[in-house]
Amino acid sequence: MSPLRLLMNGSRGRMGQTILACAKVDPEVSIAAEIDSGDDFQSAVPNCDCVIDFTHHAVVENVLTTCVAHKKILVIGTTGHTDAQVEKIKGAAKSIPIVFAPNFSVGVNTLFWLTRKAAEILGPEFDLEVVEMHHRLKKDAPSGTAKRLAEILAEVRSLQYNSDVRHGRHGIVGERTSAEIGMHAIRGGDVVGDHTVIFAAQGERVELTHTASSRETFARGAIRAAKWARTQSPGLYDMQDVLGLK
Ligand code: NAD
Repeated sequence: MSPLRLLMNGSRGRMGQTILACAKVDPEVSIAAEIDSGDDFQSAVPNCDCVIDFTHHAVVENVLTTCVAHKKILVIGTTGHTDAQVEKIKGAAKSIPIVFAPNFSVGVNTLFWLTRKAAEILGPEFDLEVVEMHHRLKKDAPSGTAKRLAEILAEVRSLQYNSDVRHGRHGIVGERTSAEIGMHAIRGGDVVGDHTVIFAAQGERVELTHTASSRETFARGAIRAAKWARTQSPGLYDMQDVLGLK
């Protein structure tokens, strides 16, 4: 099979640079275009097989329209999308294969699986809190990964992410209820990404923690997702699909 031609959108960013470095030493892929803010995305798309997008969520409409028009595979690593933007991603996935994942690392996808299992086993007497820490330049909060962890907890407990997640606490907030999921975003320094899910009950506590020390884990996962999507029908997929964890 000929190398998969990748268009890197967000090529000058932290993730874009890391993905390009990994792609350049991978014989199964080639770089069709390196695109960042101000470059001509529309003209570059016809010459690639797959667009990898690690930019800003506001870019997504343009990326979707162009990829659908040219029937290109799309891998979205960008986080922070609004509910309306997520609906547009779902709509576009009727025409093209899209892998949309808040985190492409194998370790974090194992954490997603373990979080669901732990929530099912530990039951409603355990209070649920999610804590994440990222570098000081991160623009969205909470992280897409922390949001996904809370969504998994909410699914198991029959709660709603939008109404039952409590973002930080300040002032006289009253006692904690069991129908809430606490969410805490810490920012500082150069932290690549730490996530902890806390299950706290009377007399005991379980904590599941993932620590990313290099962006390469996300980059290699995104390239793996692009190669996997090459053989897929149109549809919306995530990294659990790519890794066969479903
Ligand atoms: P960054 O700010 O370093 O890079 C973003 C890049 O996108 C910048 O170079 C910026 O100029 C570019 N950009 C902005 N608007 C653009 C446009 N219209 N067209 C083309 N390029 C544009 O950020 P980063 O740390 O690389 O993260 C990027 C995104 O990826 C964030 O949403 C982050 O949360 C997410 N992320 C996801 C994962 C994952 O595994 N899914 C891992 C790390 C980061």
